[in-house]
Amino acid sequence: MSVLALVFALWLLLWGGVLLAFAVPLAARWREPVLRCPLLIIESDDWGAGPLAQAAALLRLSALLQGVRDSHGRPAVMTLGVVLEVPDGARMAATGCAEYHALTLADTRFEGVRAAMQDGIEAGVFAPQLHGQCHYWPAAVMAAAQMDGAVRAWLGAADPAASEDLPSHLQSRWVDAASLPSRTLSTDAIQRAVADEASAYQAVFGSVPQVAVATTFVWNDVVEAAWREAGVDVIITPGRRATCRNANGQPACVDATMLTAERSLTGQTYLVRDVYFEPALGHDVPRVVDGLQQRTRQGRACLVETHRFNFLRAPERSFAALETALHQALAVCPGLRFITPLELAHALHAHDADSVETRLRPRLRAWRARLDEIPRFRRIAQLTGLMLPLRLLGGTT
Ligand SMILES: [Zn+2]
Repeated sequence: MSVLALVFALWLLLWGGVLLAFAVPLAARWREPVLRCPLLIIESDDWGAGPLAQAAALLRLSALLQGVRDSHGRPAVMTLGVVLEVPDGARMAATGCAEYHALTLADTRFEGVRAAMQDGIEAGVFAPQLHGQCHYWPAAVMAAAQMDGAVRAWLGAADPAASEDLPSHLQSRWVDAASLPSRTLSTDAIQRAVADEASAYQAVFGSVPQVAVATTFVWNDVVEAAWREAGVDVIITPGRRATCRNANGQPACVDATMLTAERSLTGQTYLVRDVYFEPALGHDVPRVVDGLQQRTRQGRACLVETHRFNFLRAPERSFAALETALHQALAVCPGLRFITPLELAHALHAHDADSVETRLRPRLRAWRARLDEIPRFRRIAQLTGLMLPLRLLGGTT
């Protein structure tokens, strides 16, 4: 064997070693379905029980979304992560916040909010999904209120409270974060709470929730199993699952990562929401447009995360940014389609020929575009020269 052939053989061996070392994430990204056309979903959390100004904001959003249509004539879709309860401030204050009292979305005070949601659902622009009975664990907030005057004042406020005003760690529903690091809730408590909130959701929307998104993206296996019992088929994730709040109050104890269409232990479909668009925090239109283009190259749907606070606290900026982002998305991806998370999950698992790619070359191209996100892989592939054949394989430069 010539020296050149030996060097070449060693080089191939090196590439093989690199591919073997990253076999698990590489294979997972090959198994992940590749979508045939650009898909966009605006995911919007925290709507429901809370400030009454939501009614007008929801009506305005509904009108805005109905005015933006894809090439099939379908209006833009925004999910509403729904919260079904806030504290009943007047009753709480009357007892000096010694007892917890709930004000639910079914209360007559929220008639306008419910009507605005229903209006958008019937127009095909709102897709409700379960965010939680409350955006907190009541016992944890009650315990925190003993030590924290601001939390006590929040519980006893005269107007329906905005959960965004709670300290971040207390906004997690599925842990007891009264003190940090958080403590795990009992299985019984979680099961009872999920069953109750699924019933409350059904009472307002007429059907059980099929899609769930945990508040602050902190949840665990027990929550998923309880959601399964309640009828939830699809779980919105940021691609990883945090199960606690650490000593600094941040989401932590990550015990799982997930790609789109992977299944939970109890069989639900995971979707990944990982483009962030909060105009009130200075996120601008390119966030959506760039995110859409990148996910389209990766053969993925673009799920954009936003929150109601944008539309309540910086309405002019946020409505304008959303409308511009939707129009620009259509301009850069003329084949763009709007879709709900439930429809997306069903299309992925039905291998719907209209939606899911089966041809080898486009699948290779999408796979190649997904590899840069694997930690350290891009650097090692560049150093070893493996990037070159991968680029050729994907037909990209
Ligand atoms: Zn939320």
